[in-house]
Amino acid sequence: MTFVRSKHWLLEEMTLEDVRNLQPQVAVLPMGATEPHNLHLPYGTDTLEAWHLADRCCEAACQLGAKLVQLPAIPYGTETNMRQFPLAMNLQPSTVHLILRDLVQSLEGAGIQKLLIFNSHGGNEFKPMLRELYGQTSVHIFLCNWFQMVKDAASKICQHAEDHAGELETSVIMAFRPDLVRLRSDGSLQADDGQTRPLRFQALQQGWVGLSRPWHLLTTNSGSGNPHLASASKGEALTQVVVDRIASFLADLSQSPLDASFPFA
Ligand SMILES: [Zn+2]
Repeated sequence: MTFVRSKHWLLEEMTLEDVRNLQPQVAVLPMGATEPHNLHLPYGTDTLEAWHLADRCCEAACQLGAKLVQLPAIPYGTETNMRQFPLAMNLQPSTVHLILRDLVQSLEGAGIQKLLIFNSHGGNEFKPMLRELYGQTSVHIFLCNWFQMVKDAASKICQHAEDHAGELETSVIMAFRPDLVRLRSDGSLQADDGQTRPLRFQALQQGWVGLSRPWHLLTTNSGSGNPHLASASKGEALTQVVVDRIASFLADLSQSPLDASFPFA
């Protein structure tokens, strides 16, 4: 009996022969984090979201003919504003940059010149890194912060807007890993309401002036946004939006020639 691999886009499950046969055109790099998520979701939430959502996008892209490889997820991210919480495992932005630079070099060595960073953590800011790497590599790097990309759909699917460990993230984890969501004996989430302390200045409240918010002052148990109306079906609906928007992009990217005007029409 021959064993047929189902997830043939996952590098961690591929052999050298698989890679040689596939000749991938695109790599997808899921970027996560290790940090607390209120009292009901695990520290690995961002990494789980990145992995599972990327997996679903890659699966759909492969069905559309994409030749791609999903790289193992990076489980750490930038946590400098979470330092007051135990075991929020920080990589400085400059360290994240070095990791990205080195991985891009490995892709270049393998002849893969198209990379999608699939980021799940708000503390990871890749745009300055894309600017710095531009011209230093033949790899064309694209960035998807999926939690920002689905904001329009999330505002229709979810009741409460959120920042962290709220209705959106809780719904996504309920869809993929319900076994990891902590419940009380009455079936409700073992979570607080994700209330946040208001900022002191109007310019900060309005977003006219930005800052890196000290998370222990902003929140009580690290959660920002009310999670209590989350459901697995909302998580699946949000996943479908991500897949609809990203899978066809990956398929088109895979097939697109790297001509002089790439990525323009
Ligand atoms: Zn998160």
